[in-house]
Amino acid sequence: MIDPAKIRKDFPILSRRVRGKPLVYLDNAATTQKPRAVIESLVSFYERHNANVHRGVHELSEEATNLVETTRAKVASLIGARHAHCVIFTRNTTESINLVAHAWGRKFLKEGDEILLTEIEHHSNLVPWQMIAREKGVKLRFIPLAHDGTLDVDSARQMLSPRIKLIAFSALSNALGSVSPIDKILAMARSIGAKTLIDAAQWAPHRPIDVRAWSCDFLAFSAHKMLGPTGIGVLYGKEDILEAMDPFLGGGDMIRQVFLDHSTYNVLPYKFEAGTPNIADAAAFDAAIDYLRGVGFDEIERHERALLGRALSVLGSMPEVEMYGPKDLDRQACLVSFNIAGLHPHDASTAIDLEGIAVRAGHHCCQPLMAKLKIPGTVRASFYLYNTLEEIDLLAAAVSKAARFFKKEEAIA
Ligand code: PMP
Repeated sequence: MIDPAKIRKDFPILSRRVRGKPLVYLDNAATTQKPRAVIESLVSFYERHNANVHRGVHELSEEATNLVETTRAKVASLIGARHAHCVIFTRNTTESINLVAHAWGRKFLKEGDEILLTEIEHHSNLVPWQMIAREKGVKLRFIPLAHDGTLDVDSARQMLSPRIKLIAFSALSNALGSVSPIDKILAMARSIGAKTLIDAAQWAPHRPIDVRAWSCDFLAFSAHKMLGPTGIGVLYGKEDILEAMDPFLGGGDMIRQVFLDHSTYNVLPYKFEAGTPNIADAAAFDAAIDYLRGVGFDEIERHERALLGRALSVLGSMPEVEMYGPKDLDRQACLVSFNIAGLHPHDASTAIDLEGIAVRAGHHCCQPLMAKLKIPGTVRASFYLYNTLEEIDLLAAAVSKAARFFKKEEAIA
């Protein structure tokens, strides 16, 4: 069983005080804190191994190259990819999805085709498709939000047609915490021969991934949401599809031979990694994966279930709190999204911040979802392996204080 007190000792920032109180960090869906091993790995890279990769034959360059390639192999094993060369390093989930939209979408989509997304997508898995749809004359369709905060896959079945060339969806919603019916959506895609892209930005930090079991065509996630550094993300793609795609960016490293009038391209994964990559952060991502594996995803899931259970019960029992999402431990994970009656989410989160508690407020990069729910946004408290049940209680106390304060203000007015 996870002992958060022990785990917290590995995260230097968690001993900080904020607004005169011990920091309660509940904004993990935005980015997570980093264990000492990741911070030390970054420092060690710059102190001992710093050089450019895949270029020099000198010792330092070989060391730097080995560090990046070791992480690539570790990511491949983490997600069950058969080949490390199917793991492409990007800056983040956003860049990974843009890479697919531009390099796959431009080449393989044509006028009249359709892309099926969902109403709960993060802007990262919506705007790139809008851009490519406008350029290519492609229609976007959407799996609707169901009344219980999950996805209405049954009504999506009626939309299925051979015109749909891609189904792109998030495995876990960053705005509601709802777990998508991943297997059902993948089966729908298979039934019409559509390619699939899973936005695993929120899933990868919390649950295991097996791309071979899912048999998805693309998968995207960010290191910074799973204890790793910022600036390093992953795109996994099936080998034959990546081979068939043209490069996204042109420049150094992604070429084999360059002539004045044309070039030939490098092999995977380098074809998609133009220019000097984010070497230090790729190297340090390795330590984050080791840390997560050391704790174990089963343990992480069990701990987060306990945190979510407590949050749903304490916040759910407050009459002034409205919760969004499934509110069910089997269909929701890792976060709660709510509003306090009469308070704008930004004001609520400012009041919560005064107690030293970091939550996020706003539309969470899901404006269409907020429009559908007819709200300006929500307050989101998102958990990770170092959070404690006591911190959930502190959040509940801060929410209750904010609600009481607002009621008093209202009475005075
Ligand atoms: N998709 C989802 C579901 C997310 O939660 C996020 C980050 N909030 C992203 C995509 C984008 O991730 P990044 O900012 O690291 O590119």
